[in-house]
Amino acid sequence: MNKYELIDGKQIAKDIKHELAHEVSEMLDSGKRAPHLAAIIVGEDGASLSYVASKEKQSKETGFFSSVYRLPANTSEEELLQMVEFLNTDSEVDGYIVQLPLPEHINEQTIINAISPKKDVDGFNPVNVGRMSLGLSSFIPATPLGIKLLLERSGVETQGKHCVVVGRSNIVGTPVAILLSRNEASANCTVTLCHSKTENLKEICLTADILIVAIGKPAFITEDMVKDGAVVIDVGIHRIADNSEKGYHIIGDVDFEKVKAKCSKITPVPGGVGPMTIACLLYNTMKAYKSKFQNNE
Ligand code: NDP
Repeated sequence: MNKYELIDGKQIAKDIKHELAHEVSEMLDSGKRAPHLAAIIVGEDGASLSYVASKEKQSKETGFFSSVYRLPANTSEEELLQMVEFLNTDSEVDGYIVQLPLPEHINEQTIINAISPKKDVDGFNPVNVGRMSLGLSSFIPATPLGIKLLLERSGVETQGKHCVVVGRSNIVGTPVAILLSRNEASANCTVTLCHSKTENLKEICLTADILIVAIGKPAFITEDMVKDGAVVIDVGIHRIADNSEKGYHIIGDVDFEKVKAKCSKITPVPGGVGPMTIACLLYNTMKAYKSKFQNNE
């Protein structure tokens, strides 16, 4: 059994927000305004409402200005596009997100395409995805950026390491695979991207020095799929009903209790990747704010 180390996403996210708060306070002291992160939410999806509430709370705690536009579920695509256009041109808003998923009658890609790439702090607009792929300055989607920073700040060596990413979604798996295969000191892996049609998944996972799992299947990765001494990053979030006071507990895509003994480092769920997402959204908003005033796009 390895003496594994926990990668403490809660603490790392706290450190990032602390650094941002320090920058904001210096800005305010020098007479500048605080960065402004806005969000549009359409409808009443419970998970989205709680994510946006958390974003609002953490923005304020970090000294950012935060605003939320709450639209009813029957908002038309045209009306949402008008709101997007309004935020694109509002000089007081540095960055904003349109909370996904959107109601079915709205085409998500049409909305994402309409967000100004300069304010697209979620990094989903094709201009930002393309710029990230080319290694140009861009907004990197918050969860992949969070994973990169978790590895960096926990001192995980990436150069020459084999990283296996399981899951190829546009918001996690694909961007993290691109990001970690760049020619950069802290993200210089050889990457294999796996998905539901991958053959010999177990054998491929067993070759991973760094295993990143984002598939949305509770406790899917078991100890027989993990190489001795690997670094494991678990992106999955699942509520499992139980008899506790809360009525549930949270687990990831990795069978943490069994897998941890095989690892050199592993993220817990909760408290690993999850807390990094909002911290990275704020990080991107600070970047949007600075690039606006320094005009260095
Ligand atoms: P998606 O459902 O969009 O994508 C899942 C991916 O996993 C797909 O590429 C799919 O393959 C692949 N997959 C599914 N089953 C298997 C399998 N048996 N073997 C190999 N690959 C498989 O998921 P997301 O990326 O949006 O989210 C993944 C998880 O991460 C979820 O639990 C989600 O809640 C969580 N999440 C957490 C975040 C955080 O902040 N911590 C942020 C975002 C997501 P294929 O493409 O072939 O269908």
